[in-house]
Amino acid sequence: MRNAQGAIAVLGGSGFMKDYPCERYLRDSRITTIYEGTSQLQVVAAIAGVTGGLVKEVIADILGKEDWHGEHPRMTKLLKALDDAIEYVKGREDSKTYHDLSARKLVDAGIALIVAALFVKAAEKYDYKKPALDFWLNMEFPRVRAGLEQVMSGYVGSTADFETLAPAVPAED
Ligand SMILES: Cc1cc2nc3c(=O)[nH]c(=O)nc-3n(C[C@H](O)[C@H](O)[C@H](O)COP(=O)(O)OP(=O)(O)OC[C@H]3O[C@@H](n4cnc5c(N)ncnc54)[C@H](O)[C@@H]3O)c2cc1C
Repeated sequence: MRNAQGAIAVLGGSGFMKDYPCERYLRDSRITTIYEGTSQLQVVAAIAGVTGGLVKEVIADILGKEDWHGEHPRMTKLLKALDDAIEYVKGREDSKTYHDLSARKLVDAGIALIVAALFVKAAEKYDYKKPALDFWLNMEFPRVRAGLEQVMSGYVGSTADFETLAPAVPAED
């Protein structure tokens, strides 16, 4: 989806028009986040594992050792931020609803960590994979960390103030 969006941005109006195949690529790419489980349901499936500490286990499994923390400080730091966010969610009075509200951000952080471990493993074997690991640590980690910061902020206005933020469009006379 991101590539198709980018292609339309590069081509401008021509990318949008049906005269060329680009707009079709964007429509077709959208189905990949619907069939075989929508993104939302993938989160529903993954969140129990993430809050249950599975991310740590999967990383240890990929790296083939439990004591990887000293070697990968940026992963250690993000894992700590994820653990803190999980504890924060569990400790809230509205834990059940806040858990649902935060699930996507927690799962995204868990996935970013697991993908980082896969890049570490690949970079150990192939030099040309090192820039991919660097890219991930510098581009994706800050993005998911921002999501964890939102979780830690305790903000619930997107649902509590929904009617005010997104009022119904007045019916036309
Ligand atoms: C082109 C195409 C090909 C397909 N091919 C196949 C195939 O080969 N085999 C097959 O078995 N199926 C196939 N499907 C069906 C596909 O798997 C379903 O469309 C998909 O699982 C989503 O289910 P749904 O359409 O019933 O949406 P719904 O389940 O009605 O979901 C609607 C929206 O609500 C969200 N939602 C639903 N439940 C929750 C929840 N608990 N929490 C948060 N959000 C939720 C969803 O994420 C989605 O955004 C195909 C569909 C299409 C369009």
